[in-house]
Amino acid sequence: MSGIAAVVKLRKAGYTDLTVYEKTDKVGGTWRENQYPGLSCDVPSRWYSFSFALNPDWTHRFSYGPEIQAYMEKTANDFGVTDIVKFNTPVTDLTYAAPHWRLTTGAGEVEQYDIVISATGVLHNPVLPKIEGLDSFEGDMFHTARWDHSVPLEGRKVGIIGTGSTAAQIIGAITSKVGTMNVFQRTPQWMIPLPQREYLGITKWLMRTFPALQKLTYNFYFKTMVKHFGQATVGDQKELAKIQEACSKHLEDAVKDPELRAKLTPDYQAACKRLIFCSDFYPAITSDNANLITEGIERIVPEGIKTVDGKTHELDVLVLATGFDATSFILPTKVTGENGRDLGEAWDGSPRAHRAVGMPGFPNFWMLEGPTGPVGNLSLITITEHQVDYVIAMLNKMRDEGLEGIAPKQTSFDAYNAEMQARVPTTVWASGGCDSWYFDKSGVPNLYPFSPDRYLNDMHDPDFSEYRLIADSRESDAVQAAE
Ligand code: NAP
Repeated sequence: MSGIAAVVKLRKAGYTDLTVYEKTDKVGGTWRENQYPGLSCDVPSRWYSFSFALNPDWTHRFSYGPEIQAYMEKTANDFGVTDIVKFNTPVTDLTYAAPHWRLTTGAGEVEQYDIVISATGVLHNPVLPKIEGLDSFEGDMFHTARWDHSVPLEGRKVGIIGTGSTAAQIIGAITSKVGTMNVFQRTPQWMIPLPQREYLGITKWLMRTFPALQKLTYNFYFKTMVKHFGQATVGDQKELAKIQEACSKHLEDAVKDPELRAKLTPDYQAACKRLIFCSDFYPAITSDNANLITEGIERIVPEGIKTVDGKTHELDVLVLATGFDATSFILPTKVTGENGRDLGEAWDGSPRAHRAVGMPGFPNFWMLEGPTGPVGNLSLITITEHQVDYVIAMLNKMRDEGLEGIAPKQTSFDAYNAEMQARVPTTVWASGGCDSWYFDKSGVPNLYPFSPDRYLNDMHDPDFSEYRLIADSRESDAVQAAE
């Protein structure tokens, strides 16, 4: 998604000598990787769209995965992005050899570029649970991002570990089809109903005939989500209380059995973990063929899962809905900047960036959806597009002033991250009493802790005094040392 946005916007800004590297055989990123049943996007379709390719034909208010994947492919084709993609070409190494970047592919090819933009996404390295005996399971087992569609589910005993956004969608979608659905829940989650709606033919006609309506609805969802949800997560108690109330009411209305309801009730604040928008989970978990198992998992055994109460839950299929490594970003590609600085070592499990897009010591290396971007429940497409505009401002500066490179100053990076660090404790992600994938090795959530519109506005107003403007890269080492 970010790569497509980057190519379209860069070209529009006059930067046409572009090459895209893609590790697989298709564009689409997360929408290509995730193909599990029930996959949908809980950000409204009208807003989860490229601003330059609004789509009158969305079939639902919240799109399903295959439709978004088709939209990604269509946009990439329509805008001539697909033509410049080197498919099945993973990038294994990026080394800065001033003033260029040397890029090495998995096949050992080496190319040289002036600028590198990392558009590698956030959640793409699946995490398998560290549970003893995982490999001993004799049934069918896969991670949600590697769904095996050849495995039949009808009438079978299915187990799923995890109750995040992914698991909730899967459980909602398949429970009525399987024999038994066993949900292994470590921590309950707050869920807000998803106001799904199918769009009528007349709506599509209106959107197509009056394109201004598409822009209007894009802006409506953009402003509404940022104003309400965005503000809630960064500390607006009134907005948070509304979310809490909606989640509590949802649970109360949907789950009548007090014992089951108690098991499903979190002991932390709503929106602390990434909030789940899902209306199908509670009807599924309250159905006769579903079991919510809250006893801890002791180990996986050949026939299923043994919990700490000594019980063995026999399973035919085991689905691992255990999430992703959210701290890797472009890694495991090895990225080496000035003076041999290694990106993985610099991050050391706590990735940070300057304004989520740049790193000191890594000139002309820009990240989309990089560390500390404002990701919580907003449209990542909008965020990416703003970041691309920021990168374009950097390129324009280089072009206009004949610079060889631009990189954040270490002092700017430190000040920016210190300001965020000081503010993070006031966000619901940190103060809400939960653990989540937002936390990294540093022990704080790796997210932008101010209002998202502040970030988006900043993306349109780069302050170049925060950057080292490198006129001649031969001076670069000296400047770097002086800093
Ligand atoms: P996740 O939110 O990280 O959830 C992982 C689940 O697995 C949690 O319930 C976790 O329990 C459980 N788990 C992990 N290791 C375990 C273990 N060893 N034993 C027992 N349980 C274990 O992952 P996800 O559901 O794949 O979602 C990741 C993110 O993808 C979401 O937060 C969201 O940002 C994105 N997403 C978005 C959409 C959308 O509609 N836009 C849909 C799906 C996903 P604990 O809570 O106890 O850690």
